[in-house]
Amino acid sequence: MSITCPKCDSSIMIHGPVRKAHCNACQNNIEIPVKYWKENLYDALGWIVEDMKEGEIYNLVQFGLFNTKWSVIELTPRCNDCNKRLDIKKVDRDKESKTKCTNCGKETNVVPAPSWLKKVLPTADYFVNVQMHDELKDNEPAISGGIALNCPQCSGSLIIDGKDRLVPCKYCGVNVYLPDDLWLRLHPVEVKTRWYLVYDKEEVEKINFDANWEE
Ligand SMILES: [Zn+2]
Ligand SMILES: [Zn+2]
Ligand SMILES: [Zn+2]
Repeated sequence: MSITCPKCDSSIMIHGPVRKAHCNACQNNIEIPVKYWKENLYDALGWIVEDMKEGEIYNLVQFGLFNTKWSVIELTPRCNDCNKRLDIKKVDRDKESKTKCTNCGKETNVVPAPSWLKKVLPTADYFVNVQMHDELKDNEPAISGGIALNCPQCSGSLIIDGKDRLVPCKYCGVNVYLPDDLWLRLHPVEVKTRWYLVYDKEEVEKINFDANWEE
């Protein structure tokens, strides 16, 4: 899933039911309301119970508060690395835990549906392979310890901490704008991930989706 940043129109990857997202392009934090998740997840569950088969994918763009680009698939949770089905029966559903892939050993997180979501979507049970950024790190670089670079004007050494793209040279005073390749190394482009909402099927089948859409 990705949404379009309402401030600069760049794509922001969404890796779980988050209430805040950070735009790496314009550096703004975006608030995502409960209503957004309620509407989108009801839509997804509606399509799934109406006519989707295991493995079938809907690719769509939805316009609304955010323009959302997402793929909806009915699928038993699988390991993201080797595609083996995950054994999620054994995990503790009341608190965040990890499940280990029996094939490759990779750990995948299992997170109970947050209480704000349970209020509007009681059939949501838990999420698998999500990244929930509750505390958003502002522009935190992917590399720690700093990088050395020479000032293009005076060759003095610049220490780059990755937080700011414009670095002043303490020897000659020029402001050095970091090149694209270095900036991308410090702030890698995020890629899409597949994450899962595990729901109570019997309860979902009882929902009157038409009534929900009319609300
Ligand atoms: Zn933006
Ligand atoms: Zn695996
Ligand atoms: Zn300089």
